[in-house]
Amino acid sequence: MNVLKFIPLLLLGMHSAFSGSLQVVASYGYIGDIVQRIGKDRVEVVVLARGDYNPHIIIPKPSYIAKMRRADLLVINGGQLEIGWLPQIIRQANNSAVQPGERGFLDLSQHVHLIDVPTSVSRELGDVHPEGNPHFFMDPENIPVIATAVTERLTELDPDHQAYYEANNKELRTFWQQQMTRWEAQLKPYRGEKVVEYHKIFDYFFNRFGFLIAGTVEPLPGIPPTAKHIAEVEKMIVREHVKFIFQDVYNPQDASSYLAARLNIKLIILPHDVGAVKGADNVFSVFDEIIRRITQ
Ligand SMILES: [Zn+2]
Repeated sequence: MNVLKFIPLLLLGMHSAFSGSLQVVASYGYIGDIVQRIGKDRVEVVVLARGDYNPHIIIPKPSYIAKMRRADLLVINGGQLEIGWLPQIIRQANNSAVQPGERGFLDLSQHVHLIDVPTSVSRELGDVHPEGNPHFFMDPENIPVIATAVTERLTELDPDHQAYYEANNKELRTFWQQQMTRWEAQLKPYRGEKVVEYHKIFDYFFNRFGFLIAGTVEPLPGIPPTAKHIAEVEKMIVREHVKFIFQDVYNPQDASSYLAARLNIKLIILPHDVGAVKGADNVFSVFDEIIRRITQ
């Protein structure tokens, strides 16, 4: 073997970070699944938050720092959803490639339209949505938007495989369009249905499919309900003829259960991310499972 010829190649390999697969860290499961579908065997994806936990309050594990240190790309939800747990991991990992503003940092909230953007910041009151509602993944119309943002960023980091990423994006969009047609048909009978949710986490979904949000069990996003607020919600449910209360998997269910039992309406627990419940194991089956639970 010609050792002298071999060494420069080895060095080149060490310095070209993207000669192998791209190391991607995704804050949430839905992001990891979309990155995997676009990057396929060109990416190695690590998801930080568990899908069945409160996405606002993830307790970081020490292993997150090591994962962040090795990352070529960090993809976050943004809109302050990770504000309580991710910044400290980014800081401690001290990986210059994935700092905000770098090519290795992708904030998805910058690519979608956020609803409920407040005119004045109310975080002092405990509102955990100070930049608007960050749960935009719950609108399935955002799946292709996110996929395209991911495609563009992977292409920027790994331009030799642009055609590959674009083909995968096209495949995703075709499949997504088929699902969307089916979901719209399944939910058509529910248009105009008035609903209550515990936290403002399913708003994008309800808006997309024509449900009307009559109120929330939480008085403000992130603030647990008081007896006074529950009494007000009870009166509103009767007045507005609400038939459903929807709740995420992680918040306490006492208040919603109380209201549902007392008013004889349905309480339905819905997944908000990949991995939140059994059966919701990818970006498409999350919506299949939501719709199955509503329509069954
Ligand atoms: Zn929230």
